[in-house]
Amino acid sequence: MSSISWVSVILNLLILLSSSSQTTLSIDPSLSNQGLADIPSKFLNLAKSPELFDYMVKIRRTLHENPELGFEEFETSKLIRNELDKMGIQYKYPIATTGVVGYIGTGNPPFVALRADMDALAMQEAVEWEHKSKNSGKMHACGHDAHVAMLLGAAKMLQEHRSDLKGTVILVFQPAEEGGGGAKKMLDAGILENVNAIFGLHLATRYSVGDVGVRSGLLMAGSGFFEAQIKGKGGHAAIPQHTIDPILAASNIIVSLQQLVSREADPLDSQVVTVAKFQGGHAFNVIPDSVIIGGTFRAFSTEGLVQLKHRIEEVVTLQAAVQRCNATVSFLEDEKPFYPVTINDKNLHKHFLKVAGHMLGDENIKPAEAVMGTEDFSFFANAIPGYYYYLGMVKETEGQLVAGHSPYYKVNEDALPYGAALHASLASTYLLEYHSPLPIHDEL
Ligand SMILES: [Zn+2]
Ligand SMILES: [Zn+2]
Repeated sequence: MSSISWVSVILNLLILLSSSSQTTLSIDPSLSNQGLADIPSKFLNLAKSPELFDYMVKIRRTLHENPELGFEEFETSKLIRNELDKMGIQYKYPIATTGVVGYIGTGNPPFVALRADMDALAMQEAVEWEHKSKNSGKMHACGHDAHVAMLLGAAKMLQEHRSDLKGTVILVFQPAEEGGGGAKKMLDAGILENVNAIFGLHLATRYSVGDVGVRSGLLMAGSGFFEAQIKGKGGHAAIPQHTIDPILAASNIIVSLQQLVSREADPLDSQVVTVAKFQGGHAFNVIPDSVIIGGTFRAFSTEGLVQLKHRIEEVVTLQAAVQRCNATVSFLEDEKPFYPVTINDKNLHKHFLKVAGHMLGDENIKPAEAVMGTEDFSFFANAIPGYYYYLGMVKETEGQLVAGHSPYYKVNEDALPYGAALHASLASTYLLEYHSPLPIHDEL
């Protein structure tokens, strides 16, 4: 890496400018913007250097070979801590079992956080390649191996420029994004206390390498889980009239639950209820005593979620009663907390557009649609201003990539420098713009 400290050159320029006025940075927006404009492309060049690119690829492939499920990311966490040790970055561990939180910069405010999730999925990899998963039945099929690699890449760059940082960057390596709500556990452990903002990203097969998908405000749905037990009275299948059939009741419940699904003209008014689990009966000629059904429900507002929860309870219990069954519904909130709606902060959206515009060009920033998918980043973005974006990885010449959660999922590693550079740029420029205790920039 070059020893030229370009961030400090820009900083000195900014400090020089601001010293002639009471307000920092806002004195000459054109010039300060010009200074900040250089940072993203410089970080991208650094991230694309063979040294850093190879480093990230190596980390990503090592993790890909050794996937671990939520709250079991012990080796992943160890690898991260080893890398942070080598870089001389201090961290806290364990948080939420395997989570790691690193600190780069002054140790003082402002604080800006960057987040990567670490967990893999319980599935068997079907891609035959040199770095195929060695852990049978486990696979990094959502790209979290690459997310960790990109945050470590960013950490390397930020640590090398730590003396230029005007505050503290917090590196959040969280467990169990895939349904475990690892983010909530990290949040409950207090990792975002006094933190001003948090950024997160996800690799996406809908956008090309060098493109990002963005949206201000609502980005992803909120979701909850439910499980219902429907109790009847079992008996011989030849005399169903002597039984109270819970299978019949459960089937009617599922049909009724389907009527709660609505797909409105405005997708943001839509809601989803899906029964994905149905367990009951073991024999061909015995009506069981009880049946268990379970599933998920999703909506784009907290009120929508609460309303759906009530309706599910009503439909299950009342529809069961129609068939003379009893039903109880559990929402499993202790083990599977409700995921809040993911909302991108409007001011961070502006900050992102500026940084990504300088790095990638405005034409490569694509609008993203709000989707019914969920992301536990929402716990963070619910607690403090947060911003989550999609990082493109499609290479036009190689055709469409398989979407995540498929055994055929592949990551295009050419995207790694973009993620690392965006992380580093978003955080360092955020600190530059917010380091003044005085109110700054109306535009931010
Ligand atoms: Zn996933
Ligand atoms: Zn994911």
